[in-house]
Amino acid sequence: MSRTVYVNGHYLPEADAKVSIFDRAFLMADAVYEVSAVLGGKLADFDGHMARLHRSLDALQIPSPATDEELLAIHHELIRLNGIDDGLVYLQVTRGNVGDRDFIWPKDAPPSLVMFTQTKHFEDDEGPRRGIKVVSVPDLRWGRRDIKTVQLLYSSFAKMQAKAQGADDAWLVEDGFVTEGTSNNAYIVTRDGTIVTRNLTQDILHGITRASVLKLAAEAQMKIVERPFTIAEAQDAAEAFITAASTFVCPVVAIDEAQIGDGKPGPVARRLREIYLENAEATAV
Ligand code: PLP
Repeated sequence: MSRTVYVNGHYLPEADAKVSIFDRAFLMADAVYEVSAVLGGKLADFDGHMARLHRSLDALQIPSPATDEELLAIHHELIRLNGIDDGLVYLQVTRGNVGDRDFIWPKDAPPSLVMFTQTKHFEDDEGPRRGIKVVSVPDLRWGRRDIKTVQLLYSSFAKMQAKAQGADDAWLVEDGFVTEGTSNNAYIVTRDGTIVTRNLTQDILHGITRASVLKLAAEAQMKIVERPFTIAEAQDAAEAFITAASTFVCPVVAIDEAQIGDGKPGPVARRLREIYLENAEATAV
C-alpha cells in the first residue's frame, strides 16, 4: 500500500513526493535527521529527539524549518494518515536547494523538510529476543559524530562487513576503544553489575534512548560508569547490549565470535528493555 509522506508543507502519495537534484542533501549529504519510535500510535522520547534535532541544526547553521509544535503536528498527521500503530517516523531537514553546487553554504536558503513513516512490529523483532552478534570494525567516520547527519555511508559499509561475516552489526573501534555501533550506542555490564558506556563527546551520537535508559537505570539504583571500554573488556563482560530508537534495548550475545556471558540475553539488558518500554509507553505523546 502506498504511504502518505510529507514534503515541504504537502502530504503526498509517496510516488508523487519529489526533491530537487540540486538539494544539498543529495549532492553533499548536507542534511540532518531524526528517527522516533511510535508505540501504540504515540511518539516515544519526542522532546529528546526535537532537542537533538535543534543541536544538529545549530551545529551546521541550518535554520529550523518549523516549530516543535508544528513538527509534532506533522508527526501526528503522518501517523494518522498511515494508520501506524507501532513503527517509526523519519524526519530529515536539508540545507535546501539553491540551484548551483557549491562548497560554500548558501545564505538564507530555505531548508527542506521531508518526513515519512515505517511500520515496524517491534514484538516480532528477532534481535532482542535471541540477542545479536557484533563484530569490531575500525571507526573511520568523520569526527563530528555528535551531529546526526545523513552521511551514513561508512556506517552502512561497516554493517555490510558485519553481515558478510555472519554477524548482525558492527561495533566501531577507534584508538583501541569502542565508540558505538553503526546505528546505536554500545554498553557492557561488568561482572560486578556495573553498566559501562562511552562518555558523551563529539566521538559518538548522543543517543536519545541512551539518555532515557541511563536515567531509568539510575532510578532503579543500578550502577553506571560513563567511560570508554575495549573489545577485550567487552568480551570478558557479563553482558553487552545496544540502544537505539529503532530497537530500544537489544542484548549483544557475541563479539568477534567470542560468546558473552552464557551466550543468551542477560538479565540487566532484559530488565532495562522492560523498564524502557514501560516508561516509553507511559510517556509517549
Ligand atoms: N549512534 C548512532 C551512530 C546512531 O545512528 C544512532 C541512531 O540512529 C544511535 C547511536 C542511537 O540514537 P537514538 O537512541 O537517539 O536512536
